[in-house]
Amino acid sequence: MISFVSTRGNSEPVSLGTAVLQGLAPDGGLYVPTQIPPLLPRRAHVEGDVDAFAKLAEQMLSPWMSGWLSSLQVEQLVRRVFTFPVPLVPLGADGGLHMLELFHGPTLSFKDFGARLLGGLLGLLQQESDQETVVLVATSGDTGSAVADGCSGIDGVRVVILYPEGGVSPTQELQLTLRRSGVTPVCVRGSFDDCQRLVKGAFTGQVPSHIRLTTANSINVGRLLAQTIYYVHAARTMRHRAASTPDPVFCVPSGNLGNLTAGMMAFRAGMAANGFIAAHNANDFFPSWLSDEGARFAPSVKTLSNAMDVGAPSNFERLENLFDRTELKRLVRGVRVSDRETIEEMRETWEETGYMPDPHTAVALRATRGRSDGAPPVIVLATAHPAKFPETVKKATGAAPDTPERLATLASAAHYAEQIDADQEELTRLLSA
Ligand SMILES: *Cc1c(COP(=O)(O)O)cnc(C)c1O
Repeated sequence: MISFVSTRGNSEPVSLGTAVLQGLAPDGGLYVPTQIPPLLPRRAHVEGDVDAFAKLAEQMLSPWMSGWLSSLQVEQLVRRVFTFPVPLVPLGADGGLHMLELFHGPTLSFKDFGARLLGGLLGLLQQESDQETVVLVATSGDTGSAVADGCSGIDGVRVVILYPEGGVSPTQELQLTLRRSGVTPVCVRGSFDDCQRLVKGAFTGQVPSHIRLTTANSINVGRLLAQTIYYVHAARTMRHRAASTPDPVFCVPSGNLGNLTAGMMAFRAGMAANGFIAAHNANDFFPSWLSDEGARFAPSVKTLSNAMDVGAPSNFERLENLFDRTELKRLVRGVRVSDRETIEEMRETWEETGYMPDPHTAVALRATRGRSDGAPPVIVLATAHPAKFPETVKKATGAAPDTPERLATLASAAHYAEQIDADQEELTRLLSA
């Protein structure tokens, strides 16, 4: 059985289930696995097939779950969780650039992968417990709706989502406040930082004894496991299409560095890749760190790619624990991209190829510019559907994104949110209810 230890080294090793339920280790560190199980040789990989993805997921997740779940339970879990396609779309004719579209899940961002697996795992864990679990999460963007969707309707699990009043886009707010069973969206009269402070306060303060508190932010290692799968899926799909191309480079639009950490874990497990690009917006701690520019955690700066507005990436601690500095510098190139360049990239990509990236994906696309002939192909992680950001897309390209059915019907569905001041006692009252 693989166990998990804290990055800060002062907590007991725990099982996957405990790591998922606790979220953060008791010493304040993040859980890291004591080993990363090597990939098995690839089975025939069928293009674009939901079933093939689920099979790969089953193969990759089984070693993590062994000693806890039976193989039948793992199979049922992945079939419930990974229900949507994960296409790899070539961009342009030269075969050098490919978009890995991770936004075909229920809430149209890659956060659905982690949130849905987390929901599945919590459901299984809850069967072994009679205590109520409360998933508390602060959101400024896509995490909230993915977690609300992925963790709703589970017996014994309540989801409480804090979001800042006026601090999320209109589409995001509609997604967040959709009435779902077992989910309480809470509009906080304050900023995103206030929301995060309230979450931290809840974890360090008194929690009513009948509930168990956990978090669904990307500090939860359960989310990362789901994200390792699509990297391997993409690498194998490319190999399947063209056996003789060099191994790909993955370009990851990054904020909290959870996605990049998952990719690096897949690499450690044996995935064939020629390295990674960490594409950041003006919140550029990690690119600065990679190039020895005296990087420091800083308050976040608002940008067009709001889900990447992270001044102090929490997964950096995990990345630094799993990989040493030399290895990180050898494998990862950091790039920073401004809002002006993001808009320019959205327009140019649209004009050159007819592909419409969302602002986060555009940051990554920009970071791949200037590739030389004969360089390894690049797989860009397309992390959100452009229809989640219609205002920015329209401004950049002059065209409106196609609206998927799921978003189109959203406005007419039932919505609901609690309102509180940015006050710890108000949150405690709400959690105790
Ligand atoms: C969360 C998010 C990111 C950043 O991912 P991290 O794992 O935090 O680095 C990028 N793009 C979108 C659309 C997101 O929602």
